[in-house]
Amino acid sequence: MSKGKIYVISGPSGVGKGTIVKALISSHDDIKVSVSATTRSPREGEINGESYYFLTKEEFADTVAKDGFIEHAEYCGNSYGTPKKPVFDMLEKGIDVILEIEVQGGVQVMEKFPEAQGIFILPPSMKSLEKRLRGRQSETEEAILRRLETARYELSQVSKYDYFVVNGPLEQAVADVAEIIEKNRD
Ligand code: 5GP
Repeated sequence: MSKGKIYVISGPSGVGKGTIVKALISSHDDIKVSVSATTRSPREGEINGESYYFLTKEEFADTVAKDGFIEHAEYCGNSYGTPKKPVFDMLEKGIDVILEIEVQGGVQVMEKFPEAQGIFILPPSMKSLEKRLRGRQSETEEAILRRLETARYELSQVSKYDYFVVNGPLEQAVADVAEIIEKNRD
């Protein structure tokens, strides 16, 4: 059995990466998504161990010191990291693993694992991105403006990725990502 492959999925906050990934894994048993660790507070409805592993700053620093992350980065004042062991275990079992992470972490992964494929999710327009970010209603105005500013930076990093998918109609975006993964299988 061949080993699984890593797919890095990045894109600006609010672009709908999470929705695409959820739809994709619900229809593909052989693709799983890594659960990240973060120091940010849980949003309403988020479950520890499912949405994220919510860690204190100390716990996060301890995991960094023990080399327990594949990559980690700061994003809008919080730390995020991909736990190593669960990802390596899934790859060994031949499962393709999606890392839904921001661009600094994404670039680290693509440098460390040259066989990893990067997929960048683009919004149909800047206006639609702002609308989505505001529609979420889970963040303060300050946090939204910060995420929009970060989004502009993130969009400037698009050329570091192997594939671009525009998140227009959801089914189309999911089909595009599924096609990329299927094409990369041996
Ligand atoms: P949010 O706070 O909206 O859940 O996530 C903020 C950003 O952090 C998103 O772009 C998300 O993809 C990214 N992110 C989530 N988990 C990780 C991770 O493990 N590593 C890195 N580098 N970014 C992550």
